[in-house]
Amino acid sequence: MAVGVLALQGSFNEHISALSRLGVKGVEIRKPEQLQNVSSLIIPGGESTTMAKLAEYHNMFPALREFVKMGKPVWGTCAGLIFLAEKAVGQKTGGQELVGGLNCTVNRNYFGSQIQSFEAELSVPKIVSQEGGPETFRGVFIRAPAVLEVGPGVEVLAEYPVPSANVLYSSSAVQIQEENAVPEKKVIVAVKQGNILGTAFHPELTADTRWHSYFLKMANETGEASSSSLVPAVGV
Ligand code: GLN
Repeated sequence: MAVGVLALQGSFNEHISALSRLGVKGVEIRKPEQLQNVSSLIIPGGESTTMAKLAEYHNMFPALREFVKMGKPVWGTCAGLIFLAEKAVGQKTGGQELVGGLNCTVNRNYFGSQIQSFEAELSVPKIVSQEGGPETFRGVFIRAPAVLEVGPGVEVLAEYPVPSANVLYSSSAVQIQEENAVPEKKVIVAVKQGNILGTAFHPELTADTRWHSYFLKMANETGEASSSSLVPAVGV
């Protein structure tokens, strides 16, 4: 079955293009009943308050929660990750409705405002071991969230080493830095919990389709598991 892409707001077109580069059709989802036509779902990046208001207006929340609870594969990128978190904290959180299901707490604007957006090479061992390709993945962080805490059952797939203010580059300064060494701080930027995948960055805005391919494999495995459970045992 086709992959659904929540198309209320944000980078849904970019996800659909990335899927089509892999030969897969992405279906725009705007109404609860449309979720019945897809076996997996991508929730794109955008602006989570606006997306939540539109989701509420279209009465999407109960159907989205049901979809996640049924164990269907769901991937949230950036605002989509915020949507899937059990808890969101940080600036302007003010009672925003979430889909939930992903056992973690996110900070909505961990890296700051729009002008603090950045790109960084991320170490993604799980993606490399499964998908091959370059050792790192170019993470596009736009007013990005980060995962502050994960609960049991959540696998961390990528972390970002936050540059320390004490990182100095001149050789004389390196001496000073070593004396006042500050441990490198890493924040979680990609997680997986069973059927749920979350990335704080935007793979749909790069030419590298490895995260999409990883998600499609997740979706296939889940599909196979549920369809094989429907096959009657021999002799029944
Ligand atoms: N921080 C944004 C929010 O709260 C998400 C940004 C993004 O999706 N690029 O919605």
